Amino acid sequence: MLAPEVEARPWVEQLDVDDASYRTQLAYLFDRSAFYREKLGEAGVASPRKAGGLADIARLPLTEKRELTATRTPDNPIGAHLCAPPSEIVRIYSTSGTTGAPTYIPLTAGDLENWVTGSARSYAASGITAGQRIVSTYNAGPFVAGAALAAIDRVGLCHIPVGTGNTERLIAAIELLRPEAAVLTPSYAAHLVEWAAEREVDLRGSSVERVLVAGEPGGGETAFRAKLEEGWGARVTEAMGIGDIGASLWGECEEQDGMHLGARGFVHAELIEPDTEVALEMDDGATGELVLTHLQHRAAPLLRFRTRDHVQVRTSPCKCGRTSPRVRCVGRTDDMLIVRGVNVFPSAVREVVSAFAPEVSGHILVKPQAAGVKQEPPLPVSVELARGANADAALAEAIRERLRSVLLTQTRVDLVPWGSLQRSEYKSKLVEH
Ligand SMILES: [Zn+2]
Repeated sequence: MLAPEVEARPWVEQLDVDDASYRTQLAYLFDRSAFYREKLGEAGVASPRKAGGLADIARLPLTEKRELTATRTPDNPIGAHLCAPPSEIVRIYSTSGTTGAPTYIPLTAGDLENWVTGSARSYAASGITAGQRIVSTYNAGPFVAGAALAAIDRVGLCHIPVGTGNTERLIAAIELLRPEAAVLTPSYAAHLVEWAAEREVDLRGSSVERVLVAGEPGGGETAFRAKLEEGWGARVTEAMGIGDIGASLWGECEEQDGMHLGARGFVHAELIEPDTEVALEMDDGATGELVLTHLQHRAAPLLRFRTRDHVQVRTSPCKCGRTSPRVRCVGRTDDMLIVRGVNVFPSAVREVVSAFAPEVSGHILVKPQAAGVKQEPPLPVSVELARGANADAALAEAIRERLRSVLLTQTRVDLVPWGSLQRSEYKSKLVEH
């Protein structure tokens, strides 16, 4: 642990600390944020005293990303949630929303410091330690993930940035510089396993002992993770952030049972039922959409921000000694389809299908027939066969049956030849409308 006095602090004590931070943050919002003064006022919460403490947070309204972009004006391109004067802003990131309109994410020096501190705890949870080498494959400099890469320095690692788009250069760096760890998207990690197998490159025998995956869900899916671990001969752990809140907020430890909240103390996590927006208890095994609140942010703090990440929570004690709750990302609420009332995440379809290895490659593509979220069964799913495997009606039927029993959804499984679904050096597309 980078900071045992923080990371192993009993969670109830953390909540006490967070309650104090939250009350200070609320007072700051009422003082500085035009956006939240108006939003909370409309919700009948006219003062910090009326808002109460963390235990009452579910009474406050949620914040949607589109609300933030809607307050942008030529005079204030960041939005009405900006709280700090220009002189205090040291960095401005941008994210491209699904709507295409970028959101600007300003940070003060203190905000940036907290981002890096939280990210460093998240990365260090994987077991990487000072003095080791790590190769990174993100073209992340301009993006929020660039701040997560600063965590590599904080942990005390030797950073070997290689970037995306040149697999030969990456493999050469691994072979010649012998890093103990690599950080990449799960899609790219999977692509490299195939790439190496086709060229008789011994990825399994390489120096890499730990593979840190982030940027999309998947690294925690049992069958998918097993495939990566087999191909790399390395332990695979995942990390996750959300641009509007922090770079790498969550990081999995060596127990591989969900990602700990590395940004504890800086961010408060809640769970809601996405359709009704009702708050859910963060109990062991609970699932729902993750909602995050800044506790110590200055530039543009957010309150009850909807992440659109659908997660499962673990609160059972973890052998690593970290006491924060853990999450596993099931999928993005934005990718979710509703098939006759049942929520279906494409990443969950992939997880079920991947268990049919070695008959299948693990690549899938869900092809909804109707526009929008609501679909009628059967939901068409293309499943790519493994190299050399033949389309077999019994296999298609077995996959269809397993999807029905696990996801409670009727599908139409089309087996497609090896190599026919797109590979990605960044993030996989699992749905094609
Ligand atoms: Zn742990």
